[in-house]
Amino acid sequence: MTFHVLTLFPEIFSSPLKGSILGKAQERGLVEVRVINIRDYAEGRHRVADDYPYGGGKGMIMKPEPIVRAIRALLEGDPKTWVVLMTPQGVPFDQRVARRLAAFGHIALVCGRYEGVDERVRSFVNEELSIGDYVLSGGEFAALVVIDAVSRLVPGVLGDAEAPEEDSFSGGLLEYPQYTRPPEFEGKRVPEVLLSGDHGRIRQWRRRQALLRTWQRRPDLLEEAALEEDERRYLEGLRGEGDGL
Ligand code: SAM
Repeated sequence: MTFHVLTLFPEIFSSPLKGSILGKAQERGLVEVRVINIRDYAEGRHRVADDYPYGGGKGMIMKPEPIVRAIRALLEGDPKTWVVLMTPQGVPFDQRVARRLAAFGHIALVCGRYEGVDERVRSFVNEELSIGDYVLSGGEFAALVVIDAVSRLVPGVLGDAEAPEEDSFSGGLLEYPQYTRPPEFEGKRVPEVLLSGDHGRIRQWRRRQALLRTWQRRPDLLEEAALEEDERRYLEGLRGEGDGL
């Protein structure tokens, strides 16, 4: 999986991409991140990449020419690249979008800064993504979120011990509660079933806990989760108890 990142601040990417899972994925050649400085595509001695907004108003706007030149240059070398603009006005990024993006071998993430990018840039990208309903100072951290979430889904990036399909959202549910040693901490005990060694019971307990947790915290997810008949009945039971409270 190759990520091209188009940014005015390439230095932001040096440290977060080094450590842990992402660092190892790059060492093993499973993930490659190429950081492109948009300023290299700006013209003139000062390589100006932003300008005042037409019509007045605060802040600066990223000029279209350097961004579009940078996109064209990378598409020349890597024509199958899927180009994404990071913007708070984009489609919300979630696990489903991460799965869809993981199927592309090559993705470019365009990071805005200042008051954002000139509107005309939008027609040169394949899609626009937002990582949430808040405004960041730049698209770089949003791009890092996308790189991290998508890379985890690239086959081989996670070891066998860390299956992405067990994570929250993968099966449409939040993950069940997790515990590690010690068996008792400040009077709080690990549920007995997890110490039982009975893998069938543990599997069933975890599935029920995932249902319960999703029902308590994110009931909206249940509408689209793939559930067995007995799981639907279990949820109906929970709803019934809830009504009586
Ligand atoms: N004036 C813009 C608006 O209101 O839509 C916001 C510009 S923001 C200060 C600068 C850049 O940060 C954006 O161009 C975008 O690339 C990035 N950004 C900010 N919030 C984001 C979010 N929630 N998701 C993705 N990118 C975001």
